Amino acid sequence: MPLPRHRLDLLVLPASPAGALGPLRDWAAALAGAAALPAGAVAWAWEEPGGPRFWSSGLGGFRVFCPVVPDGAPITAAFVPALEAWRHGGRDALGPCPRCGGVHPLDALRFAPEAGFAPAAVRLVDVARAWLEPGELPEGLSAAVRVIPQRPG
Ligand SMILES: [Zn+2]
Repeated sequence: MPLPRHRLDLLVLPASPAGALGPLRDWAAALAGAAALPAGAVAWAWEEPGGPRFWSSGLGGFRVFCPVVPDGAPITAAFVPALEAWRHGGRDALGPCPRCGGVHPLDALRFAPEAGFAPAAVRLVDVARAWLEPGELPEGLSAAVRVIPQRPG
């Protein structure tokens, strides 16, 4: 059995915080009867923590960029307290932005590695590869979701 730190999951979540959960829920329901899971996953789970949540990779080197000046220096240092404030009931925005001076909705920021805000996600557990092949998501769903590789823990 591999050590937990070697486990890689894929999170599949709506591409926007207001994205419809229905198609994702339908896909998850279909996984229950599938002979093989996408990306060679050994299991899957529907995760709905009861409110919007920030889903990120848990990998090192996480950086956040201004959506107006995306090739500028990262604004991660400004994002971290903005995220904490949001988690404690504060506004869902960052600003003034240290790069452009504007105010950005948190979900408009650029993340590397990929991350996003959503109320729910499908977790594909212990995958064999860090991506989904064409056809592993139903037609129409692939454009509506974000796929985030995550090392849990
Ligand atoms: Zn900015």
